[in-house]
Amino acid sequence: MSNDREKIPYKIYLEESEMPKQWYNVRADMKNKPAPLLNPGTHKPMTFDELRPVFCDELIKQELDDTTAYFDIPEEILNFYKMYRPSPVMRAYNLEKALGTPAKIYYKFEGNNTSGSHKLNSALAQAYYAKKQGLKGVTTETGAGQWGTALSMACSFFGIDCKVYMVKVSYEQKPFRREVMKTYGASVTPSPSDTTAVGRKILEEFPGTTGSLGCAISEAVEAATTREGYRYVLGSVLNQVLLHQSIIGLEAKAALEKYGIKPDIIIGCAGGGSNLGGLISPFMGEKLRGEADYRIIAVEPASCPSFTRGKYAYDFCDTGMVCPLAKMYTLGSGFIPSPNHAGGLRYHGMSSILSQLYDDGLMEARSVEQTSVFAAATQFARTEGILPAPESSHAIRAAIDEALVCKETGEEKTILFGLTGTGYFDMTAYEKYNNGEMSDYIPTDEELEKSFAMLPKID
Ligand SMILES: *Cc1c(COP(=O)(O)O)cnc(C)c1O
Repeated sequence: MSNDREKIPYKIYLEESEMPKQWYNVRADMKNKPAPLLNPGTHKPMTFDELRPVFCDELIKQELDDTTAYFDIPEEILNFYKMYRPSPVMRAYNLEKALGTPAKIYYKFEGNNTSGSHKLNSALAQAYYAKKQGLKGVTTETGAGQWGTALSMACSFFGIDCKVYMVKVSYEQKPFRREVMKTYGASVTPSPSDTTAVGRKILEEFPGTTGSLGCAISEAVEAATTREGYRYVLGSVLNQVLLHQSIIGLEAKAALEKYGIKPDIIIGCAGGGSNLGGLISPFMGEKLRGEADYRIIAVEPASCPSFTRGKYAYDFCDTGMVCPLAKMYTLGSGFIPSPNHAGGLRYHGMSSILSQLYDDGLMEARSVEQTSVFAAATQFARTEGILPAPESSHAIRAAIDEALVCKETGEEKTILFGLTGTGYFDMTAYEKYNNGEMSDYIPTDEELEKSFAMLPKID
Protein backbone atom coordinates (compact mmCIF):
# COMPACT_ATOMS: atom_id res chain seq x y z
CA MET A 1 0.00 0.00 0.00
CA SER A 2 1.14 3.51 -0.78
CA ASN A 3 2.92 5.31 2.06
CA ASP A 4 0.31 8.05 1.69
CA ARG A 5 -1.68 5.99 4.19
CA GLU A 6 0.00 7.80 7.08
CA LYS A 7 -0.94 11.23 5.72
CA ILE A 8 -4.19 10.82 3.87
CA PRO A 9 -7.28 9.13 5.36
CA TYR A 10 -9.63 6.80 3.52
CA LYS A 11 -12.38 9.42 3.69
CA ILE A 12 -11.70 13.09 3.23
CA TYR A 13 -14.58 15.12 4.60
CA LEU A 14 -15.21 18.81 4.65
CA GLU A 15 -16.75 20.25 7.80
CA GLU A 16 -20.30 21.50 7.42
CA SER A 17 -18.91 25.02 7.86
CA GLU A 18 -16.51 24.47 4.94
CA MET A 19 -19.30 23.65 2.47
CA PRO A 20 -19.45 25.85 -0.64
CA LYS A 21 -22.12 28.56 -0.32
CA GLN A 22 -22.23 29.38 -4.04
CA TRP A 23 -22.59 27.40 -7.24
CA TYR A 24 -20.02 28.04 -9.97
CA ASN A 25 -21.11 28.74 -13.55
CA VAL A 26 -18.33 27.54 -15.87
CA ARG A 27 -19.92 29.39 -18.82
CA ALA A 28 -18.62 32.66 -17.33
CA ASP A 29 -15.04 31.54 -18.09
CA MET A 30 -15.72 30.00 -21.51
CA LYS A 31 -14.45 32.02 -24.46
CA ASN A 32 -16.69 30.10 -26.83
CA LYS A 33 -20.08 30.09 -25.09
CA PRO A 34 -22.40 27.12 -25.51
CA ALA A 35 -24.88 27.66 -28.36
CA PRO A 36 -28.29 29.02 -27.27
CA LEU A 37 -31.52 27.00 -27.21
CA LEU A 38 -33.56 27.70 -30.35
CA ASN A 39 -37.30 28.05 -30.82
CA PRO A 40 -38.25 24.96 -32.88
CA GLY A 41 -40.67 27.06 -34.99
CA THR A 42 -38.66 30.22 -35.75
CA HIS A 43 -35.11 28.87 -35.18
CA LYS A 44 -34.40 32.07 -33.18
CA PRO A 45 -32.83 31.90 -29.68
CA MET A 46 -35.47 31.14 -27.04
CA THR A 47 -36.32 34.21 -24.94
CA PHE A 48 -37.18 34.37 -21.25
CA ASP A 49 -40.85 34.94 -22.11
CA GLU A 50 -41.00 31.99 -24.51
CA LEU A 51 -39.61 29.67 -21.84
CA ARG A 52 -41.94 30.89 -19.05
CA PRO A 53 -44.91 28.58 -19.74
CA VAL A 54 -42.62 25.53 -19.43
CA PHE A 55 -39.92 26.34 -16.83
CA CYS A 56 -39.75 28.22 -13.48
CA ASP A 57 -38.67 31.88 -13.79
CA GLU A 58 -35.55 31.72 -11.60
CA LEU A 59 -34.36 28.58 -13.38
CA ILE A 60 -34.77 30.25 -16.79
CA LYS A 61 -32.56 33.12 -15.58
CA GLN A 62 -29.90 30.60 -14.58
CA GLU A 63 -30.33 28.76 -17.88
CA LEU A 64 -29.75 31.89 -19.98
CA ASP A 65 -26.93 33.43 -17.88
CA ASP A 66 -23.54 32.97 -19.59
CA THR A 67 -21.68 35.64 -17.61
CA THR A 68 -22.34 35.43 -13.84
CA ALA A 69 -19.59 33.23 -12.40
CA TYR A 70 -21.08 32.58 -8.95
CA PHE A 71 -24.68 32.17 -7.76
CA ASP A 72 -25.49 32.22 -4.03
CA ILE A 73 -27.09 28.96 -2.91
CA PRO A 74 -30.28 29.96 -1.06
CA GLU A 75 -30.26 29.23 2.69
CA GLU A 76 -33.21 26.79 2.41
CA ILE A 77 -31.36 24.68 -0.20
CA LEU A 78 -28.15 24.73 1.86
CA ASN A 79 -30.12 23.45 4.85
CA PHE A 80 -31.34 20.46 2.85
CA TYR A 81 -27.89 19.91 1.34
CA LYS A 82 -26.57 19.64 4.91
CA MET A 83 -28.77 16.57 5.49
CA TYR A 84 -26.55 14.53 3.13
CA ARG A 85 -23.62 16.77 2.25
CA PRO A 86 -20.75 17.40 2.16
CA SER A 87 -20.26 14.04 0.47
CA PRO A 88 -16.88 12.37 1.03
CA VAL A 89 -13.91 12.12 -1.28
CA MET A 90 -12.64 8.56 -0.81
CA ARG A 91 -9.14 7.24 -1.37
CA ALA A 92 -9.40 3.87 -3.15
CA TYR A 93 -6.45 2.34 -1.27
CA ASN A 94 -7.82 -1.20 -1.59
CA LEU A 95 -8.48 -0.91 -5.31
CA GLU A 96 -4.99 0.54 -5.86
CA LYS A 97 -3.50 -2.41 -3.99
CA ALA A 98 -5.54 -4.95 -5.97
CA LEU A 99 -4.42 -3.34 -9.23
CA GLY A 100 -0.80 -3.05 -8.10
CA THR A 101 -0.68 0.47 -9.49
CA PRO A 102 1.46 3.40 -8.37
CA ALA A 103 -1.47 5.67 -9.31
CA LYS A 104 -3.39 7.39 -6.52
CA ILE A 105 -7.12 6.95 -7.03
CA TYR A 106 -9.75 9.19 -5.42
CA TYR A 107 -13.48 9.18 -5.94
CA LYS A 108 -16.23 11.60 -4.97
CA PHE A 109 -19.13 9.53 -3.67
CA GLU A 110 -22.62 10.89 -4.34
CA GLY A 111 -24.63 7.79 -3.41
CA ASN A 112 -25.06 8.65 0.30
CA ASN A 113 -28.72 9.66 0.14
CA THR A 114 -31.95 7.69 -0.25
CA SER A 115 -32.36 8.59 -3.93
CA GLY A 116 -28.93 6.96 -4.35
CA SER A 117 -27.40 9.46 -6.76
CA HIS A 118 -26.18 13.01 -7.39
CA LYS A 119 -29.55 13.94 -8.94
CA LEU A 120 -30.86 15.19 -5.58
CA ASN A 121 -28.45 18.17 -5.80
CA SER A 122 -30.43 19.69 -8.68
CA ALA A 123 -33.86 18.28 -7.68
CA LEU A 124 -33.70 20.26 -4.40
CA ALA A 125 -32.82 23.46 -6.25
CA GLN A 126 -35.55 23.02 -8.84
CA ALA A 127 -38.26 22.16 -6.27
CA TYR A 128 -37.18 25.14 -4.14
CA TYR A 129 -37.51 27.66 -7.00
CA ALA A 130 -40.91 26.21 -8.00
CA LYS A 131 -42.13 26.60 -4.41
CA LYS A 132 -40.73 30.13 -4.18
CA GLN A 133 -42.63 31.09 -7.33
CA GLY A 134 -45.84 29.97 -5.63
CA LEU A 135 -46.39 27.02 -7.95
CA LYS A 136 -48.53 24.03 -6.96
CA GLY A 137 -46.27 21.40 -8.43
CA VAL A 138 -43.92 20.14 -11.12
CA THR A 139 -44.00 17.39 -13.74
CA THR A 140 -41.17 15.33 -15.12
CA GLU A 141 -40.25 12.10 -16.87
CA THR A 142 -38.08 9.33 -15.55
CA GLY A 143 -36.52 6.34 -17.25
CA ALA A 144 -34.67 4.09 -14.83
CA GLY A 145 -36.15 6.15 -12.01
CA GLN A 146 -33.24 7.92 -10.26
CA TRP A 147 -34.35 11.39 -11.30
CA GLY A 148 -38.01 10.73 -10.41
CA THR A 149 -36.92 9.45 -7.01
CA ALA A 150 -34.71 12.48 -6.32
CA LEU A 151 -37.43 14.89 -7.44
CA SER A 152 -40.13 13.20 -5.36
CA MET A 153 -37.89 13.55 -2.28
CA ALA A 154 -37.23 17.22 -3.05
CA CYS A 155 -40.91 18.00 -3.64
CA SER A 156 -41.94 16.36 -0.39
CA PHE A 157 -39.31 18.42 1.49
CA PHE A 158 -40.65 21.66 0.00
CA GLY A 159 -44.34 20.64 0.11
CA ILE A 160 -45.27 20.78 -3.59
CA ASP A 161 -46.92 18.20 -5.85
CA CYS A 162 -44.80 15.97 -8.10
CA LYS A 163 -46.18 14.18 -11.17
CA VAL A 164 -43.79 11.66 -12.71
CA TYR A 165 -44.26 10.05 -16.13
CA MET A 166 -42.29 6.83 -15.95
CA VAL A 167 -41.40 4.88 -19.09
CA LYS A 168 -43.86 1.97 -19.00
CA VAL A 169 -41.27 -0.79 -19.28
CA SER A 170 -39.39 0.61 -16.24
CA TYR A 171 -42.68 1.14 -14.36
CA GLU A 172 -43.33 -2.57 -14.71
CA GLN A 173 -39.75 -3.83 -14.31
CA LYS A 174 -38.69 -1.50 -11.49
CA PRO A 175 -41.58 -1.64 -9.02
CA PHE A 176 -39.29 -0.73 -6.10
CA ARG A 177 -38.25 2.62 -7.57
CA ARG A 178 -41.89 3.35 -8.33
CA GLU A 179 -42.86 2.65 -4.73
CA VAL A 180 -40.06 4.84 -3.34
CA MET A 181 -41.48 7.72 -5.39
CA LYS A 182 -45.00 7.02 -4.12
CA THR A 183 -43.72 6.83 -0.55
CA TYR A 184 -42.44 10.39 -0.97
CA GLY A 185 -45.91 11.40 -2.20
CA ALA A 186 -45.36 11.61 -5.97
CA SER A 187 -47.96 10.38 -8.44
CA VAL A 188 -46.38 7.99 -10.92
CA THR A 189 -48.01 7.35 -14.30
CA PRO A 190 -46.74 4.72 -16.74
CA SER A 191 -45.99 6.37 -20.09
CA PRO A 192 -47.52 6.41 -22.66
CA SER A 193 -50.79 6.97 -20.79
CA ASP A 194 -54.33 8.05 -21.62
CA THR A 195 -53.98 11.10 -19.33
CA THR A 196 -52.47 13.32 -22.07
CA ALA A 197 -53.38 14.01 -25.72
CA VAL A 198 -49.89 13.05 -26.91
CA GLY A 199 -50.04 9.82 -24.86
CA ARG A 200 -53.43 8.87 -26.33
CA LYS A 201 -52.14 9.58 -29.83
CA ILE A 202 -49.08 7.36 -29.32
CA LEU A 203 -51.21 4.57 -27.79
CA GLU A 204 -53.53 4.70 -30.79
CA GLU A 205 -50.64 4.54 -33.27
CA PHE A 206 -48.60 1.93 -31.36
CA PRO A 207 -50.92 -0.15 -29.18
CA GLY A 208 -48.97 -2.19 -26.64
CA THR A 209 -45.84 0.02 -26.82
CA THR A 210 -43.64 -0.10 -23.70
CA GLY A 211 -42.77 3.58 -24.05
CA SER A 212 -39.60 5.65 -24.36
CA LEU A 213 -37.93 8.55 -22.59
CA GLY A 214 -38.79 10.88 -25.47
CA CYS A 215 -42.47 10.03 -25.22
CA ALA A 216 -42.49 10.47 -21.43
CA ILE A 217 -40.91 13.94 -21.86
CA SER A 218 -43.66 14.95 -24.28
CA GLU A 219 -46.34 13.80 -21.81
CA ALA A 220 -44.69 15.56 -18.85
CA VAL A 221 -44.40 18.83 -20.81
CA GLU A 222 -48.07 18.62 -21.83
CA ALA A 223 -49.11 17.84 -18.25
CA ALA A 224 -47.29 20.97 -17.03
CA THR A 225 -48.39 23.41 -19.71
CA THR A 226 -52.08 22.42 -19.56
CA ARG A 227 -52.31 22.70 -15.74
CA GLU A 228 -52.62 25.92 -13.76
CA GLY A 229 -49.64 26.36 -11.39
CA TYR A 230 -47.41 23.62 -12.80
CA ARG A 231 -44.04 23.70 -14.57
CA TYR A 232 -41.84 21.05 -16.16
CA VAL A 233 -38.41 20.17 -14.72
CA LEU A 234 -35.52 18.18 -16.17
CA GLY A 235 -32.74 16.30 -14.34
CA SER A 236 -29.80 16.57 -16.73
CA VAL A 237 -28.50 18.19 -19.95
CA LEU A 238 -29.62 21.78 -19.16
CA ASN A 239 -27.15 24.51 -18.14
CA GLN A 240 -29.03 25.11 -14.86
CA VAL A 241 -28.57 21.45 -13.88
CA LEU A 242 -24.79 21.64 -14.44
CA LEU A 243 -24.76 24.82 -12.35
CA HIS A 244 -26.44 23.06 -9.40
CA GLN A 245 -24.18 20.02 -9.78
CA SER A 246 -21.07 22.24 -9.52
CA ILE A 247 -21.42 21.59 -5.77
CA ILE A 248 -19.80 18.19 -6.49
CA GLY A 249 -16.65 19.67 -8.01
CA LEU A 250 -16.41 22.58 -5.57
CA GLU A 251 -16.55 20.22 -2.59
CA ALA A 252 -14.13 17.76 -4.18
CA LYS A 253 -11.60 20.49 -4.97
CA ALA A 254 -11.83 22.02 -1.49
CA ALA A 255 -11.45 18.60 0.18
CA LEU A 256 -8.41 17.63 -1.91
CA GLU A 257 -6.80 21.03 -1.34
CA LYS A 258 -6.96 20.44 2.45
CA TYR A 259 -4.33 17.76 1.84
CA GLY A 260 -2.49 19.57 -0.95
CA ILE A 261 -3.72 17.09 -3.57
CA LYS A 262 -4.10 18.13 -7.20
CA PRO A 263 -5.56 15.58 -9.64
CA ASP A 264 -3.81 14.93 -12.96
CA ILE A 265 -6.78 13.12 -14.50
CA ILE A 266 -10.49 13.73 -13.81
CA ILE A 267 -12.98 11.14 -15.02
CA GLY A 268 -16.78 11.00 -15.09
CA CYS A 269 -19.53 9.02 -16.77
CA ALA A 270 -21.63 10.97 -19.24
CA GLY A 271 -25.35 10.48 -19.89
CA GLY A 272 -26.71 13.99 -20.31
CA GLY A 273 -23.55 15.40 -18.75
CA SER A 274 -24.73 16.75 -15.39
CA ASN A 275 -22.48 14.87 -12.95
CA LEU A 276 -19.43 15.19 -15.19
CA GLY A 277 -20.14 18.87 -15.80
CA GLY A 278 -20.59 19.43 -12.05
CA LEU A 279 -17.46 17.53 -11.09
CA ILE A 280 -15.16 19.22 -13.59
CA SER A 281 -16.58 22.78 -13.47
CA PRO A 282 -14.16 24.39 -10.97
CA PHE A 283 -11.19 22.49 -12.45
CA MET A 284 -12.22 23.45 -15.98
CA GLY A 285 -12.55 27.04 -14.78
CA GLU A 286 -8.85 27.01 -13.79
CA LYS A 287 -7.97 25.43 -17.11
CA LEU A 288 -9.95 28.04 -19.04
CA ARG A 289 -8.32 30.86 -17.08
CA GLY A 290 -4.88 29.35 -17.73
CA GLU A 291 -4.19 28.74 -14.02
CA ALA A 292 -3.82 24.94 -14.13
CA ASP A 293 -4.10 22.02 -16.51
CA TYR A 294 -5.98 18.77 -16.11
CA ARG A 295 -6.76 15.82 -18.35
CA ILE A 296 -10.54 15.41 -18.32
CA ILE A 297 -12.20 12.25 -19.64
CA ALA A 298 -15.91 11.67 -20.35
CA VAL A 299 -16.91 7.99 -20.44
CA GLU A 300 -19.99 6.80 -22.31
CA PRO A 301 -21.50 3.44 -23.32
CA ALA A 302 -20.38 2.04 -26.68
CA SER A 303 -24.07 1.36 -27.34
CA CYS A 304 -25.01 5.05 -26.94
CA PRO A 305 -21.88 6.96 -28.04
CA SER A 306 -23.00 10.62 -28.29
CA PHE A 307 -19.52 12.21 -27.92
CA THR A 308 -17.40 9.64 -29.69
CA ARG A 309 -19.63 8.96 -32.71
CA GLY A 310 -22.31 11.67 -32.61
CA LYS A 311 -22.62 14.84 -34.68
CA TYR A 312 -22.23 18.36 -33.22
CA ALA A 313 -25.50 19.83 -34.43
CA TYR A 314 -28.82 21.36 -33.40
CA ASP A 315 -31.28 18.64 -32.46
CA PHE A 316 -34.54 18.05 -30.63
CA CYS A 317 -34.19 17.26 -26.92
CA ASP A 318 -37.14 14.84 -27.04
CA THR A 319 -38.65 12.35 -29.49
CA GLY A 320 -41.98 14.22 -29.51
CA MET A 321 -40.11 17.32 -30.82
CA VAL A 322 -41.97 19.68 -28.48
CA CYS A 323 -38.92 21.02 -26.61
CA PRO A 324 -36.50 23.76 -27.79
CA LEU A 325 -33.62 22.78 -30.08
CA ALA A 326 -30.20 22.42 -28.46
CA LYS A 327 -26.80 22.35 -30.15
CA MET A 328 -24.99 19.31 -28.83
CA TYR A 329 -23.17 16.13 -29.68
CA THR A 330 -26.12 13.93 -30.62
CA LEU A 331 -27.06 10.60 -32.12
CA GLY A 332 -30.37 12.06 -33.33
CA SER A 333 -33.54 12.34 -31.22
CA GLY A 334 -34.93 9.15 -32.76
CA PHE A 335 -31.96 7.07 -31.61
CA ILE A 336 -32.90 4.32 -29.15
CA PRO A 337 -30.11 2.13 -27.71
CA SER A 338 -30.33 -1.61 -28.30
CA PRO A 339 -32.69 -3.39 -25.86
CA ASN A 340 -29.76 -5.44 -24.51
CA HIS A 341 -28.16 -2.25 -23.17
CA ALA A 342 -28.49 -2.42 -19.37
CA GLY A 343 -26.20 0.26 -18.05
CA GLY A 344 -28.18 3.52 -18.25
CA LEU A 345 -26.70 6.66 -19.87
CA ARG A 346 -29.10 6.18 -22.77
CA TYR A 347 -29.91 9.79 -23.65
CA HIS A 348 -29.29 10.60 -27.35
CA GLY A 349 -27.69 14.02 -26.74
CA MET A 350 -25.25 15.75 -24.41
CA SER A 351 -25.09 19.00 -22.40
CA SER A 352 -24.43 22.02 -24.66
CA ILE A 353 -21.72 23.21 -22.25
CA LEU A 354 -19.79 19.94 -22.38
CA SER A 355 -20.36 19.67 -26.13
CA GLN A 356 -18.69 23.06 -26.68
CA LEU A 357 -15.79 22.23 -24.32
CA TYR A 358 -15.26 18.91 -26.12
CA ASP A 359 -15.45 20.55 -29.53
CA ASP A 360 -12.82 23.07 -28.35
CA GLY A 361 -10.49 20.20 -27.42
CA LEU A 362 -10.62 20.97 -23.69
CA MET A 363 -11.70 17.45 -22.74
CA GLU A 364 -11.49 13.89 -24.07
CA ALA A 365 -14.16 11.23 -24.48
CA ARG A 366 -14.09 7.46 -24.77
CA SER A 367 -16.70 4.74 -25.04
CA VAL A 368 -16.69 1.42 -23.18
CA GLU A 369 -18.63 -1.82 -23.64
CA GLN A 370 -21.04 -2.93 -20.97
CA THR A 371 -19.50 -6.30 -20.04
CA SER A 372 -16.22 -4.50 -19.30
CA VAL A 373 -18.21 -1.93 -17.29
CA PHE A 374 -19.78 -4.63 -15.11
CA ALA A 375 -16.38 -6.32 -14.70
CA ALA A 376 -15.07 -3.00 -13.32
CA ALA A 377 -18.18 -2.63 -11.13
CA THR A 378 -17.62 -6.08 -9.65
CA GLN A 379 -13.92 -5.46 -8.99
CA PHE A 380 -14.80 -2.16 -7.32
CA ALA A 381 -17.55 -3.71 -5.16
CA ARG A 382 -15.20 -6.45 -4.00
CA THR A 383 -12.32 -4.10 -3.11
CA GLU A 384 -13.97 -0.85 -2.03
CA GLY A 385 -17.22 -2.30 -0.63
CA ILE A 386 -19.65 0.06 -2.36
CA LEU A 387 -22.01 -1.56 -4.89
CA PRO A 388 -21.82 0.99 -7.71
CA ALA A 389 -24.59 2.07 -10.10
CA PRO A 390 -24.00 0.77 -13.64
CA GLU A 391 -23.79 4.40 -14.83
CA SER A 392 -21.04 5.22 -12.33
CA SER A 393 -19.20 2.06 -13.29
CA HIS A 394 -18.35 3.57 -16.68
CA ALA A 395 -16.13 6.02 -14.79
CA ILE A 396 -14.71 3.19 -12.67
CA ARG A 397 -13.77 1.33 -15.88
CA ALA A 398 -11.81 4.30 -17.21
CA ALA A 399 -10.19 5.01 -13.83
CA ILE A 400 -8.99 1.41 -13.60
CA ASP A 401 -7.71 1.53 -17.18
CA GLU A 402 -5.77 4.75 -16.48
CA ALA A 403 -4.35 3.22 -13.28
CA LEU A 404 -3.21 0.19 -15.28
CA VAL A 405 -1.44 2.49 -17.75
CA CYS A 406 0.42 3.96 -14.75
CA LYS A 407 1.37 0.44 -13.72
CA GLU A 408 3.01 -0.01 -17.14
CA THR A 409 4.79 3.34 -17.17
CA GLY A 410 5.49 3.56 -13.43
CA GLU A 411 3.96 7.04 -13.26
CA GLU A 412 2.34 8.06 -9.94
CA LYS A 413 -0.57 9.93 -11.44
CA THR A 414 -3.40 11.20 -9.27
CA ILE A 415 -6.81 10.19 -10.60
CA LEU A 416 -10.14 11.62 -9.42
CA PHE A 417 -13.40 10.11 -10.61
CA GLY A 418 -17.08 10.67 -9.87
CA LEU A 419 -18.90 7.78 -8.21
CA THR A 420 -22.40 9.05 -8.91
CA GLY A 421 -24.49 6.47 -7.12
CA THR A 422 -25.31 3.04 -5.80
CA GLY A 423 -26.74 0.13 -7.81
CA TYR A 424 -29.20 -1.54 -5.42
CA PHE A 425 -32.10 -1.04 -7.85
CA ASP A 426 -30.08 -2.38 -10.79
CA MET A 427 -29.74 -5.98 -9.70
CA THR A 428 -31.49 -7.28 -12.81
CA ALA A 429 -28.55 -5.95 -14.81
CA TYR A 430 -26.05 -7.42 -12.32
CA GLU A 431 -27.95 -10.72 -12.48
CA LYS A 432 -27.54 -10.79 -16.27
CA TYR A 433 -23.83 -10.16 -15.89
CA ASN A 434 -23.40 -12.74 -13.12
CA ASN A 435 -25.21 -15.35 -15.20
CA GLY A 436 -23.02 -14.66 -18.21
CA GLU A 437 -26.06 -13.50 -20.18
CA MET A 438 -24.88 -9.97 -20.84
CA SER A 439 -23.70 -9.13 -24.35
CA ASP A 440 -22.20 -6.04 -25.97
CA TYR A 441 -23.81 -4.13 -28.74
CA ILE A 442 -22.24 -1.45 -30.88
CA PRO A 443 -24.54 0.36 -33.32
CA THR A 444 -23.48 0.17 -36.96
CA ASP A 445 -22.60 3.25 -39.02
CA GLU A 446 -25.74 2.61 -41.10
CA GLU A 447 -27.94 2.75 -38.01
CA LEU A 448 -26.37 6.04 -36.93
CA GLU A 449 -26.62 7.53 -40.45
CA LYS A 450 -30.33 6.72 -40.50
CA SER A 451 -30.76 8.58 -37.25
CA PHE A 452 -28.57 11.55 -38.36
CA ALA A 453 -30.73 11.92 -41.48
CA MET A 454 -33.58 13.03 -39.19
CA LEU A 455 -31.62 15.95 -37.66
CA PRO A 456 -33.44 19.26 -38.16
CA LYS A 457 -31.99 21.49 -40.88
CA ILE A 458 -30.83 24.74 -39.29
CA ASP A 459 -29.12 27.47 -41.33
C1 LIG B 1 -28.65 9.86 -14.08
C2 LIG B 1 -27.40 9.27 -13.62
C3 LIG B 1 -26.20 9.41 -14.35
C4 LIG B 1 -26.10 10.11 -15.68
O1 LIG B 1 -26.59 11.40 -15.77
P1 LIG B 1 -25.65 12.65 -16.03
O2 LIG B 1 -26.61 13.77 -16.21
O3 LIG B 1 -24.85 12.39 -17.24
O4 LIG B 1 -24.82 12.82 -14.82
C5 LIG B 1 -25.05 8.86 -13.84
N1 LIG B 1 -25.05 8.15 -12.70
C6 LIG B 1 -26.18 7.99 -11.97
C7 LIG B 1 -26.10 7.19 -10.71
C8 LIG B 1 -27.38 8.53 -12.40
O5 LIG B 1 -28.49 8.35 -11.69
